[in-house]
Amino acid sequence: MSKQNVGGPKIVIVGAGFVGTTFAYSLLIRGLASQVVIIDVDKMRAEGEVMDLNHGMPFVYPAKIWAGDYPDCKDADIVVIAVDKGQKIGQSRLDLAEGNCEILKQIVPEITRHNRECILLVVTNPLDVMTYAALKLSGFPKNRVIGSGTILDTARLRYLLSEYLKVDPRNVHAYIIGEHGDSEVPVWSLANVAGIRLKDYCPICNVPYDAEVFNDLFLKVRNAGYEIIKRKGRTNYAVALGLTKIVESIIRDENAIVTVSCLLQDYHGVSDICLSVPVILNRSGVKETIRLPLDDEEIADFQKSAAIIKKVASSLGL
Ligand code: NAD
Repeated sequence: MSKQNVGGPKIVIVGAGFVGTTFAYSLLIRGLASQVVIIDVDKMRAEGEVMDLNHGMPFVYPAKIWAGDYPDCKDADIVVIAVDKGQKIGQSRLDLAEGNCEILKQIVPEITRHNRECILLVVTNPLDVMTYAALKLSGFPKNRVIGSGTILDTARLRYLLSEYLKVDPRNVHAYIIGEHGDSEVPVWSLANVAGIRLKDYCPICNVPYDAEVFNDLFLKVRNAGYEIIKRKGRTNYAVALGLTKIVESIIRDENAIVTVSCLLQDYHGVSDICLSVPVILNRSGVKETIRLPLDDEEIADFQKSAAIIKKVASSLGL
């Protein structure tokens, strides 16, 4: 964290859309930052959002929040990239790649011109390709370029499992790894509650251990984004809370384990691409990736997911 921000961390959010502003709202409620800057090509939108957020100041922890510009990235601890060219209903996350890569080519150099010490946190889709683009465009070390990745998909799986098992989602440990998107991989072989594998935990709470039920839950996780967008046009709340968890883990130097996207090197045969796996997050960013003891099918699916992301990244010349 920057030594200059004695009053607390400074977070810059590029993109004043649904995700960026819901995240700003969550940050304020949690009291995690003393300075929050929102930058958007649509300055009016950024200004309007900031006015609205500022009017809530009497009810939250003290913080300065303003609509800014790239020089405000100076001495920021974390810069969050939440821009978007505009996703249409029915478009997959990968369809977004070209347009959003063009935006990153404009904004990442703007950010790094003013700050080469911050952590970049990407949320723009297609997430893994955009995280890789941010890594390449910034030239930052790999620990300081993070994508929100499957923190959201993992949360969705934990929630749905918690409903099935009738237990607090915080006590469900089950990861989604790989792409934040259609080729993501559920790690059923390691899913557990109270350290007890699902197979042994299900009888404890009198529910069947049924592969079909679990596959159905996974499909709900995988399609959740599309289903929400079909109904309300956007997803914003859960992802904003996931971003808040990531930022908190960094700022508070928590050594928390979360599934986020980062550059992998020789992870079950996958190298030189950003994908989600559980990592230890602290003030330095990604301290370590945790090598899960996956089964053969999970490894094969993870490698397929990597191949899909690599193909898109190379089609963009990354
Ligand atoms: P949005 O359309 O509401 O907001 C995007 C904002 O980006 C707009 O305000 C737009 O003006 C701004 N923008 C566009 N070009 C810009 C530029 N060159 N410089 C600065 N700002 C620019 O979108 P949203 O719903 O907030 O989603 C943002 C991104 O997050 C999308 O890519 C979306 O797919 C992604 N998303 C990711 C996850 C995840 O889990 N990773 C979840 C939800 C959404």
